[in-house]
Amino acid sequence: VRIGLFGGSFDPPHVGHWLAAVDAHDALALDRVDFIPAAQQPLKVEGGHAASATDRLAMVAAMVGDDPRFGANAIEVDRGGLSYMVDTAASYRTHGRLDELFLLVGADSASRFDRWKEPERLLSLVTLVVLTRGGEVFVPTALTRAAVVLPTRRLAVSSTEIRSRARAERPLRGFVMDAVAEYIRASALYR
Ligand code: ATP
Repeated sequence: VRIGLFGGSFDPPHVGHWLAAVDAHDALALDRVDFIPAAQQPLKVEGGHAASATDRLAMVAAMVGDDPRFGANAIEVDRGGLSYMVDTAASYRTHGRLDELFLLVGADSASRFDRWKEPERLLSLVTLVVLTRGGEVFVPTALTRAAVVLPTRRLAVSSTEIRSRARAERPLRGFVMDAVAEYIRASALYR
């Protein structure tokens, strides 16, 4: 089974995440892409996350719905503390030894890959796939030179923008899946 691992804060998950995952699913002929919200992203500790890990996981699950191409994985939320992809990838390995794992990372995050925990070990567990948007150039390091660079469409939307829209009480329709907008409204997130 070919599985894409798509980690992030997903604070909240939006259509940019969704279409990047769809592009990777199609281009790499993946059987499934798992969205994996971090309990705490090590490189984002200063500001922390706006919504709780439980809410971010629930929003990812709402976005995925019953679409068989995608999964919402609670592994990092359940583990708690700082979330390191190397631990997550290792546990995928023990649960499904024959799976082929593809780690999907935006070019912005991939440029900091050398600062991730145990990057060499992580690269022995997964194929690194760098998602570039709209002609963005990814400059690999010695460590990331084996990465697969996958051009995806450019969608100028970020979680940061959506949080400020929510704070200003502007509609989120079209920026996030309807079920996610409804979750944000019902839980009064990002006010
Ligand atoms: P924030 O605005 O809070 O920094 P974000 O929108 O960048 O958040 P993250 O959850 O930090 O979202 O991103 C998770 C992953 O999704 C990262 O690898 C990031 O590069 C990628 N990503 C974020 N936004 C987009 C987008 N519009 N299109 C494609 N990939 C994206």
